[in-house]
Amino acid sequence: PELFAPERKNSQGWDTRHRPTLAKIEADRGAYKTQSWDAKPLLAVEAEAGEKDPILNPANRNDQVGTVTWATPETVTAAAGAAKVWDASPEERSRILNKIADLYEARYGELFAILHREAGKMLFDAVAEVREAVDFLRYYANRTAGDPPVGTFVCISPWNFPLAIFTGQIAAALAAGNAVLAKPAEQTPLIGWRAAELMHEAGVPREVLQLLPGAGDVGAAMTSTPGVNGVAFTGSTETARLIHASVAKHLEPGAPLIAETGGLNAMIVDSTALPEQAVAAIVESAFQSAGQRCSALRCLYVQEDIAESFLEMLTGAMEALQIGTPWDVSTDVGPVIDAEAHKDITGYIDAARKDGRILKECAVPSDGYFVPPALIRVKGIGDLEREVFGPVLHVATYKAEKLDRVIDDINGTGYGLTFGLQTRIDDRVQHVSERIEAGNIYVNRNQIGAIVGSQPFGGEGLSGTGPKAGGPLYVDRFRRHTADMSGE
Ligand code: GLU
Repeated sequence: PELFAPERKNSQGWDTRHRPTLAKIEADRGAYKTQSWDAKPLLAVEAEAGEKDPILNPANRNDQVGTVTWATPETVTAAAGAAKVWDASPEERSRILNKIADLYEARYGELFAILHREAGKMLFDAVAEVREAVDFLRYYANRTAGDPPVGTFVCISPWNFPLAIFTGQIAAALAAGNAVLAKPAEQTPLIGWRAAELMHEAGVPREVLQLLPGAGDVGAAMTSTPGVNGVAFTGSTETARLIHASVAKHLEPGAPLIAETGGLNAMIVDSTALPEQAVAAIVESAFQSAGQRCSALRCLYVQEDIAESFLEMLTGAMEALQIGTPWDVSTDVGPVIDAEAHKDITGYIDAARKDGRILKECAVPSDGYFVPPALIRVKGIGDLEREVFGPVLHVATYKAEKLDRVIDDINGTGYGLTFGLQTRIDDRVQHVSERIEAGNIYVNRNQIGAIVGSQPFGGEGLSGTGPKAGGPLYVDRFRRHTADMSGE
């Protein structure tokens, strides 16, 4: 399949530096500043409802964004029994997927508001999120023709891209004609519910797409229920292991499992790098989305010869970060997702502070789940015991002649998602990118925000199973392969 299909168009998005556009955004999202939403299971069958809980804004616990009525393991069984593969023609599926994309673009004000208030996404992130969701829909809408669907696909998505990844998984499964049982993350059911409603509004039949808001018990039921034929999952490496075991035990042999998981991502800055460019790329890669991206930069290596002045520039740039409520246009870094994340990450920073390893720590608002963007000194990436999913950047220095050792250490983590390199030496670009084992390698830019269709996204090793999302091979994994094996 063509990577750069001529018909491909990415969403135009919203340029927030253009004043008239910003004024329009303000007006369109303003109507939703105090609205609340009530998410519930969307099913093709009558089923008893589970419990109901409030959803609170992570930046301001006094802001109740809505409520969620949970699905239960029994709801999952009922939904799996009522699921039907999508019998519409490839052209019709394509038309409906494109229609969903149009609806997302038209309702962006409401989607931004939910993303700010439920997921803590600042404006730039909210824009990127809606764009990426739209891009997935249109990209997979171009790939509806092919082998038949697998059957009923379970899609389990994370809270850090609660619209884009939620939509990407479902759009791919639907493009191939599968029935879908979708579980949005328990932290972000409102945006998932609103998106699923728009999918139904665009014409996806109820029995083809059902929504099951829930926590781990619902996820466990979804990956072990008879009638389920495949699973797409994005989230932690740890949860992926549980799902893998469940799929092997309960689903038919060969049932596809597509998992996108964590990373321990590095960047190398050598002495020829352009410092201003490198600093900007580092700040974005480590702290945008409050570091809550699996692609985020976790461990920076700076060549010893430039380290002192370079780190002074970097800490200066961190000082300038605006940390605050996601709704404010000037905010660079919003809150982390919930109390558990807040406790985990602040505990990690506290421990580094006790050891005297903090080089820089920003000030944060005292209300809400804000974590200070922090720079922590380490000897190398081997000191990182796990992925800390927040605005925490580790930094090490290296001697020029030890570059290959650094590469070995980075490869040695077992993860392989993103990698960044800042250098002006062409041979070095060649050498390092040949040796680094990572799904997405970025040179002289940031290492987040892969663009659908141009930068298919996904990792190796502990980072995922492939295929890459937003790439030409992705939808194929949602099909049953009927290729003639006779060799003729
Ligand atoms: N695709 C996103 C990026 O390129 C990251 C996705 C994730 O965090 O799961 O930044």
